[in-house]
Amino acid sequence: MKVTILGNNSAIPAHGRNPSAQIVEVKDHLLLLDCGEGTQMQFIKYGIKRSKIQHICISHLHGDHYFGLIGLINSLGLLGRTDPLHIYCPEKLPAIIQLQLDACGSMMPYEIIFHTISDEGEYKLIVDTPSYSISCFPVDHRIPTHGFLVREKSSGRKIVPEACREYQIPQSYYYRLKQGEDYLRKDGTLVQNDWVTEVGKPDKVYAYCADTRYTESFAEYILGADMVYHESTYLDAENDLANMRYHSTAKQAAQLAVVAEIKQLLLGHYSSRYKNIEEFETEAKTLFVNTRATFEGMSIEL
Ligand SMILES: [Zn+2]
Repeated sequence: MKVTILGNNSAIPAHGRNPSAQIVEVKDHLLLLDCGEGTQMQFIKYGIKRSKIQHICISHLHGDHYFGLIGLINSLGLLGRTDPLHIYCPEKLPAIIQLQLDACGSMMPYEIIFHTISDEGEYKLIVDTPSYSISCFPVDHRIPTHGFLVREKSSGRKIVPEACREYQIPQSYYYRLKQGEDYLRKDGTLVQNDWVTEVGKPDKVYAYCADTRYTESFAEYILGADMVYHESTYLDAENDLANMRYHSTAKQAAQLAVVAEIKQLLLGHYSSRYKNIEEFETEAKTLFVNTRATFEGMSIEL
């Protein structure tokens, strides 16, 4: 799984930084998390193939998180997309997009399938495939907002070939062994799964925590995650302002990383008042060492 940051500024484009957008690449699938203005230009700049995007998740309806979406939808149509596009979003988004399409009489050559997430706030599984899943979870922002959890599923238990040969298990059965099944031989002997397999690699988990004020209410969902992107709009000196505007500081993002026992923290969604973002990482590292302040074009492997 790989995450590429396309936009990490809050509110407006500034200091060469774009509004929120990031690509998660998992098992050859591309997921787009938020789609701020300018996202398409970032695709071109960083070599992201628009046509390969299967799922788009929109965290909330502040413009810096979705004003690039109608442009992307339109471009995909002009480029001749025929595959359906799945969009997971707040309740009001389908009507907004439909109004824009109706106003210009646009007929897309592909189907747009909206999956709305309740404004009441909910934790639920929204995508489930054999190789990965996506869930949403509520955060604490001025309007209904959700974060997203991407889980790359492990390929199951690890086969021990010598042991399999010893018990004469055909290779065609290995897939079922990986799922944890036992094997019944023709002579009636039951070969227990753990005689011929070992514990496989654990799932990889990435969490995108959207816009949120400091809260531990969603810590349970991101508990132990391999990597978490938590917004850090301000530095600690602006703690009161952050709280008033339903945003977080770098220090608070680090505090949550400690509480949720995650492995790596990414910072972003910087306020335009900060031209230089070095201090964000320095501040967060006082509480949580494995922190990186993101910059655009940065790709991080999990
Ligand atoms: Zn917001």
